[in-house]
Amino acid sequence: MRKTLGIFGGTFDPVHIGHLRMALEIKQQLHLDEMRLVPCYLPPHRPAPGATAAQRLAMLTIALRDCAELGLDERELQRNRPSYTYDTLCELRAELGEQASLCLCMGMDSFATLDTWHNWGQLLQLAHIIVVARPGWFLPESGVMAELLQMHRNNAEVIPQQAAGAIVVLEQRLLPISATDIRAQVQAGNSPRFLVSDGVWNYIRDQQLYQ
Ligand code: ATP
Repeated sequence: MRKTLGIFGGTFDPVHIGHLRMALEIKQQLHLDEMRLVPCYLPPHRPAPGATAAQRLAMLTIALRDCAELGLDERELQRNRPSYTYDTLCELRAELGEQASLCLCMGMDSFATLDTWHNWGQLLQLAHIIVVARPGWFLPESGVMAELLQMHRNNAEVIPQQAAGAIVVLEQRLLPISATDIRAQVQAGNSPRFLVSDGVWNYIRDQQLYQ
């Protein structure tokens, strides 16, 4: 049987239940063998995050402590330079071999700007792309991403059959939660409790993050 691995990248500043539910639901819907959260070191396309790389990693470690279904892949934090998804997929492909089915998972907001990513045109040679709905975002209807979608869209059955190359769009429950909003809530003196795990909220308070 072909190994199936989902990877879900992000800044996770902080990791919240929108991320965790999304990763778990994709893993379950696609019957993936493994799902890894991959925090990026220096996001090439967004302003510097509020927490340091070590703090973001600590929050992920806390959030995933009792969660056997989801794993953590720290490789991008260990690179001492901007992290590119393309490099991560090349490394994973070399580690897992040509047969493994790699699933690069992202919300619709990330998919809409995929054409700004490093070597974006080669990502589908390395992995499938799994796109999930996010409140306020829709699939692109025109432009280069709409064309890419039209050419490569397939259904979930392709994942165990093919190692890479398909775009699969999944319907999921929508959780209108963003890290931006959580940072703003904390800065305003409000509690983000229940949007992040209690352990993560305790860590945010201990470290006086986002103030
Ligand atoms: P920020 O608000 O700081 O941009 P974020 O909440 O969007 O943060 P990221 O770490 O930037 O979190 O996102 C990582 C991935 O998670 C992206 O692909 C994004 O689309 C997805 N994502 C984040 N929150 C949700 C959510 N509530 N529903 C669906 N997808 C989400």
